[in-house]
Amino acid sequence: MLANKRNASFSMCGELWNKEGEAASMQFNPNEVGFSMEEARQYCAMNKAAAKELTPAQVLEDLQRGNSRFWMGAPSRSEKTAFDRRSLIGTQFPSVAILSCADSRVPVETVFDQGLGEIFVVRVAGNCLDAATTGSLQYAVKHLGVKVLMVMGHEACGAIKAAGLPTAKIQQEPPDLAGALLMLKEGLDENRLSKITDAKAYDREAVITNVKTQVEKLTRDTSIMSKVYADELIVVGGFYEISSGLVDFVLEVNSKAPSIASPVPPKPVKTEGPRAGGTIGRQKVVGA
Ligand SMILES: [Zn+2]
Repeated sequence: MLANKRNASFSMCGELWNKEGEAASMQFNPNEVGFSMEEARQYCAMNKAAAKELTPAQVLEDLQRGNSRFWMGAPSRSEKTAFDRRSLIGTQFPSVAILSCADSRVPVETVFDQGLGEIFVVRVAGNCLDAATTGSLQYAVKHLGVKVLMVMGHEACGAIKAAGLPTAKIQQEPPDLAGALLMLKEGLDENRLSKITDAKAYDREAVITNVKTQVEKLTRDTSIMSKVYADELIVVGGFYEISSGLVDFVLEVNSKAPSIASPVPPKPVKTEGPRAGGTIGRQKVVGA
């Protein structure tokens, strides 16, 4: 993502960037050349200023491009140099915050082909909001000024599956785990889900229902929604399909559609790439 933000010539920062913001052929070797703390500071300030210029829609597009690079098997993220790491010591300015699952198969930066300092990630089983995760996201919105806030569920989520078990079964788990699962269970709308007979469609719909529940909670947060109404933030919900590597952006909350409408209807599972966006009710659907 940072590569897209660079728009000026800059030659002391690990790579040479031309006026179009693309890496030129000459590579900078910090072991041979070295760098000063002031150069690192200037580099950070340049990237921070470029990030500030992006609109929430542009940030979301960057995120979607990153995921397409990942599922196409063509990631562009390179290992950062000492200069990059040093430049980030004093501050961070991610443009995106993502609440995702703790599942080991859902490495967020990898899925979106992003690097150091680019995504503020909160991961917890079932990607649900509690005091700690909500507070972390509020920090990202208020103090880091992220422009996209995302809740991302994923295919074959064990936490969501477990939340669908009978309450008596859940209560056999250790107290805190049982409490977390019961909190997830509250938002699952199990009556509606029980009508879905196809196992894969059920899995997807249960996860998306939970994503929608969490996004809906975020829309009740005035510290978040004030940014949405000011066109400084968009909130999106996504479904990461482990089998294909594709993230479907299944709902979006913005200043024109500031609330969650009716539940997202079940959709047939697919494996092809992202499609053009559409609209279901008040929910903008991209690639869903
Ligand atoms: Zn999960």
